[in-house]
Order: sequence, then C-alpha cells, then structure tokens
Amino acid sequence: MGYIDTQLFIDGKWQQPAEGKSLPVVNPATGKEIGRVAHAGRPDLDLALAAAKKGFEVWRDMVPAARAQIMRKAAALVRERVGEIASLLTQEQGKPLAEATTETLSACDILDWFADEGLRVYGRLVPSRLNVSIRQMVIKDPVGPVAAFTPWNFPINQVVRKIGGGLAAGCSMLVKAPEETPAAPAALIKAFADAGIPAGVLQLVYGTPAEISNYLIPHPAIRKVTFTGSIPVGKQLAALAGQHMKRVTMELGGHAPVIVCEDADIALAVKAAAAAKFRNAGQVCISPTRFLVHRSIAGDFAQALAEHAKGLKVGDGLAEGTQMGPLANARRVAAMTAFTEDAVKKGARLLTGGQRIGTQGNFWQPTILADVPKDAKVFNDEPFGPMAAIRPFDALEEAITEANRLPYGLAGYAFTRSLKNSDLLARRLEVGMLWMNMPALPSAEMPFGGVKDSGYGSEGGPEAMEAYLNSRAVVIQNA
Ligand code: NAD
Repeated sequence: MGYIDTQLFIDGKWQQPAEGKSLPVVNPATGKEIGRVAHAGRPDLDLALAAAKKGFEVWRDMVPAARAQIMRKAAALVRERVGEIASLLTQEQGKPLAEATTETLSACDILDWFADEGLRVYGRLVPSRLNVSIRQMVIKDPVGPVAAFTPWNFPINQVVRKIGGGLAAGCSMLVKAPEETPAAPAALIKAFADAGIPAGVLQLVYGTPAEISNYLIPHPAIRKVTFTGSIPVGKQLAALAGQHMKRVTMELGGHAPVIVCEDADIALAVKAAAAAKFRNAGQVCISPTRFLVHRSIAGDFAQALAEHAKGLKVGDGLAEGTQMGPLANARRVAAMTAFTEDAVKKGARLLTGGQRIGTQGNFWQPTILADVPKDAKVFNDEPFGPMAAIRPFDALEEAITEANRLPYGLAGYAFTRSLKNSDLLARRLEVGMLWMNMPALPSAEMPFGGVKDSGYGSEGGPEAMEAYLNSRAVVIQNA
C-alpha cells in the first residue's frame, strides 16, 4: 500500500499542528521523500499536556478490567491490520517486510500481556506492631501522566514497551515518537483510538526532539519520563528529570559481548549469532557486537560468520527474498564507514563487507572484522549497524574482564556446554540480559533493560509495571 502522512493525536483527535509545520519522511531504500509528519510546536504541546492531565483522571478511575479490555481490543485491531502496518514500517524504516510483520505481531503479544498484568496490581495488608485494630495498607496507584520518548529502530515495539506498562498501570501517556518513522507508531495509536480509549489518555506528537523533551520533562503535569535511545541523550534527559524530581526509566545503548568458549557448539554459535547480528541491519540495542572467541576456534568461527554474511541478500525491504534492508538513515552509513576505516587502520582484518552498496538509499555490506585490536573504535563504541568485530581469547576470565571493560551493560551472549563456565558467566557478566546457547529471545514477561551506562529500570515483567506505580502507605485505626 501507499504511504500516508502523519498528524498529531491529542485529546482523542487527529490534528495538524497549530503553526502548520511538517517534516519530510524519507524511504531509506530509495532516499526519496515519501510523506510528511506534523511538527508540534509549543501550543500543541500545551494542548497535549492539558489533555494528558485530564485523561489521567479518567483512566486512573477506570477498573483495571475495563482498561485491559481496551488494550486487548487495540492489540486485536493491530493484528487485523498487520499487513498494512508492516508495509508502512518497512517503507519508512527499511527493515524487511517479514521483520516488520514480526515486530508488529510481537507488539500485540506485549500489549496483551500488560493488559492482563494490570489486573494483578495488588497492594498489601501489613500487621500493625501496636494494635490489631490498626489496618496498615500499602496502596499501589499510577504515578500520573507520562512523557515517553521512543526511537526509530523499532518504531512500534518501542512505543508498546512504554505504553504497555504505563496504560496497564493506569497512567495517561504523551508519546514523542520518532520523526524518521512516524506512520507505523501512528497506526498503533489509531488502533487504540478505534478500540475506544478515552480522549486524553494517549497523545502522540512529533517535532524537534530536544525542544519537546526540554519542555515536557520539567512541566509540572508530567510525573514520569521514559526514554529509549543513545547513552549521551539518556544522560541529559535523566539529569533534567533529576532536577525536577521526575521518575525515570532509561533504556539506552549496548555493546553486547558474545563469548564463545572452547567447548561451545560452534555451528549453533554461528547460526544464533548470525541471525541476531543482521536482524534490523544490526540497529538493535541488544545486537551482538563484540565477539570474544576462544583462540582454538576463533579462525573457524570468523570464517563461518563471514560466509554467512557474504550470502545475505541485501535490498529493499519490500522486495521478495530480502534478508537485510538498508540502514535507517545516512548517519548510520557515515558511522559504518568510520568504524571500518578506523579498525583496518589499527590492524583488524576485513573478512567481508566494509563498503556502501550503490549510491541510492543507505545500503551497507554486512561486515565482519577479525583480530580487532582492543583500542579500535568498534570495540569501544556501539556500532549500531551490520558489523561484527571478533577477537580471540585464551582464558574465560580474560574474556569476562574484556566484556565488562566498557561502561555498557545491556545484553550479553555466551556459548558453552560446561556448567562451570555457564555458572561463572551468569554470575560475572555485567549485563541486564544474558542469553546462553541461543539468540536473544526477549519476552513481555521477562525484565528488559540494562545496568551501568545502559540505563535503569525495566520494560518487561512485573518490574515494568512497578515503574509506573507509586507505593503509598495508608494506616487506619478503627475508631
Ligand atoms: P541520537 O542520539 O541523535 O538519537 C537517538 C534517539 O533519541 C532518537 O530517537 C532521537 O529522536 C532521540 N533524541 C535525540 N535527542 C533527544 C533529546 N534531546 N530529547 C529527546 N529525544 C532525543 O542518535 P541517532 O543517530 O538517532 O541514533 C544512533 C544512536 O542512538 C545509536 O548509536 C544508538 O546508541 C542509539 N539508539 C539506541 C536505541 C535503543 O534501542 N536503545 C535506539 C535508537 C538509537
């Protein structure tokens, strides 16, 4: 289907911005403008804030079962519309249609899970130390209107990870979704509107990210901030939120180590790592990026990964058979060029890739670098692209030390058949999510988030609900 322009959604109505501004949306496979997205100014944000405040009062007082019904209905509508939504997503973001479809459907599963989890927000009754006639209650209630900032790599899923927990907990949400990929998140929000979410509970805006965050975060109507994106921006927003005593969840960048031990099933390690590495052209915060492979198998592993990379069909995400699409924007192509040049200059061996493909769109060859020195940029900064950097190690402790050397702590992967090794890895790797002998398999019911500079808070499991709840003490004496 064709592409559609995106408006703002405020107080239950789709609308153009008061000042009439809009931004271009470009298909990363062609470099051509395919549509426009509305650019919110101060008057639109004021409307959205007032609506979120009003919407909170309505949503907070609805019973969880009624909230769950609307969330489940929205998920069902997204499932019905998956074909058209996935097509919009691929046109604006680039990922192959099959991946866009998976992202859309998994968003529905996440919404369903949170809808039900909202039914299980319980308080506690705590016995008094003084008198049985004193009832001590712990009451959990929603924190209030939330400002949510989401990035372009998973335009739908990143929104769902935030509104899933927030709406289920009873918060209203003001979402600033990505300007580069606006139509897919708008289709998600439309499903909520069609499912009958009350006006003001959910708003959607786009604009200049820094202007919007600088205005919303300090605003007294906003009680909680949640952001997914890069570490530098996350630190700025968390600092601003701290100045205004706002609760925050930060899901930031990662630089996932992949430790392949001497006793690993190498075929499994290659298969699992390759599938995870090139998904969404590597533009995934949990993408495997720093490969630490035991010296005895490092050569074979690198060769096998390079063969896989060479065989990948790169092309327009809408074309039949495409396995990897373009990078989402020109910034990523420039970054891939800089990472490759720096690594090769410092002595890494380029086994395959390392070049832009063609002159139209943001296509980049799947790239494998072996014997990468520790001081290469790619072994220190998150590549966020289809690039694997490999280094050999001799002892597992050495690999763990190297994995923990960087300030990142989001995802990690390990391959081993030894219980001793897996136990050591589980205890020592400083990551928020660790997958062993398998590719990443995040699910709604498991915590999703990082440690160290990769952020704090979780966007999965009961922990994700806690992020949107206040625990208050109410003590009543039977008078
Ligand atoms: P960026 O740092 O410019 O932006 C990252 C995201 O933050 C974008 O969605 C952007 O709109 C938003 N943003 C930027 N400044 C903001 C501000 N002041 N207030 C509110 N939002 C703001 O980087 P980029 O070039 O778009 O992406 C590249 C880097 O971003 C990657 O290297 C990666 O580390 C990170 N990233 C991480 C994720 C993730 O899932 N954790 C997703 C996308 C990007």
